Amino acid sequence: MWRSAGLRSKYDVIIVGGGGHGLATAYYLARNHNVTNVAVIEKGWVGGGNTGRNTTVIRSNYYYPESAALYDFSLCLYERLASELNYNIMFSQRGMIITAHSRHELDLAARWVGAMRRNGIDSELLDVTAIAKLIPALDVSTSARFPVCGGFIQKRAGTARHDAVAWGYARAASERGVDIIQNCEVLGFVAGSDGAVSGVETSMGRVMAGKIGLTVAGHSTVLAALAGFSLPITSYGLQAYVSEPLKPVIDTVLMSLATGIYISQSDKGGLVIGAGLDRYVSYAQRGNSAVLRDAIGSVAEQFPSLRRVRLLRHWAGIVDVVPDSSPIIGESPVRGLYLNCGWGTGGFKGIPVGGWTLAHHIATGKPHPLAEPFGLDRFRTGALIDEAAASGIAH
Ligand SMILES: Cc1cc2nc3c(=O)[nH]c(=O)nc-3n(C[C@H](O)[C@H](O)[C@H](O)COP(=O)(O)OP(=O)(O)OC[C@H]3O[C@@H](n4cnc5c(N)ncnc54)[C@H](O)[C@@H]3O)c2cc1C
Repeated sequence: MWRSAGLRSKYDVIIVGGGGHGLATAYYLARNHNVTNVAVIEKGWVGGGNTGRNTTVIRSNYYYPESAALYDFSLCLYERLASELNYNIMFSQRGMIITAHSRHELDLAARWVGAMRRNGIDSELLDVTAIAKLIPALDVSTSARFPVCGGFIQKRAGTARHDAVAWGYARAASERGVDIIQNCEVLGFVAGSDGAVSGVETSMGRVMAGKIGLTVAGHSTVLAALAGFSLPITSYGLQAYVSEPLKPVIDTVLMSLATGIYISQSDKGGLVIGAGLDRYVSYAQRGNSAVLRDAIGSVAEQFPSLRRVRLLRHWAGIVDVVPDSSPIIGESPVRGLYLNCGWGTGGFKGIPVGGWTLAHHIATGKPHPLAEPFGLDRFRTGALIDEAAASGIAH
């Protein structure tokens, strides 16, 4: 799949974290900017963090123009990614439906659709009949515990195979000269005489580089503390659940505004289910049973015919949640150290654009226009892009 490279003592750029964002950053450094003397240093295995643990929903149904531009650019990159990387990422644009369960949620959905359309993103309001036709297994009756009042769809949304995204970027980056180093933990940073960062201390020894990208998701605050600064990030567990394989029963992605659960069906037939955050700070990559019970109870209420389906597996990843539910891309307080974090529960869909824009910033020294509103500075100026408040869900 990719060259097995030995760690050298010096690179032009080091990327800490071999998840999707780190690998995409390395790939676009090489592809877009011809910067190939790059190492991606991963403490575990490639894609073993949130990238390989997520529920793979890709969409650009955001409220604010800045977010819509960012995530739709990512969706456009996803649309071409399999041929770009020559790797089947199994991107399936099966659409995503968000259901509303009260007058208020329906108002919210209508506002959301209006905002998306103003942002140039495809979106359609749906009435109950249309939703029932698209998802026959969903209980839309008025006696349902969560009666459906309507909703909306983004037809270009969908899912992709998460491992394949990581492996595809890793292989393509490696082919362009990037060293991918697994089982190597970054333990600290080396400060140059001018205060800028000049390298990292790792479990395999010291490695020097004038520019370092930090793409470690839920571990961003840990690494930032090692570099001497703090970030407005809280790390929570987020769970996913997969059922035993079934014959095709749902061919879209559904998310319910009332329960917060979302569900799709994988090509192997398993129902892939996600829900809200485990609301306590943790680095354990497994979830608590109260959230599991809530999520699965909601699925059973909304899909009565699935009540006897057995759950096969569940796990959690540690997501990096920012107060305004938007990512942080750009410079850190330490010169030469760049950030790509804060994607929280929604950064799988952002992998191509996260890599594209961070590579641009590292290579040119200037923020990419798409990423400019997402700098760390916004927490000082107050120019937050509060997607959670706008849409009523954590992204
Ligand atoms: C259950 C779940 C469901 C989700 N569902 C969706 C979804 O449907 N759609 C969506 O868009 N997003 C979703 N997300 C969010 C998405 O998975 C993440 O935002 C995204 O994968 C983050 O990618 P990343 O490359 O930044 O982080 P990661 O993939 O977590 O990679 C970071 C890497 O850094 C490594 N690392 C950490 N510390 C060090 C160190 N000291 N030295 C070296 N390496 C280190 C880790 O081992 C890890 O591999 C979900 C997340 C979870 C957990």
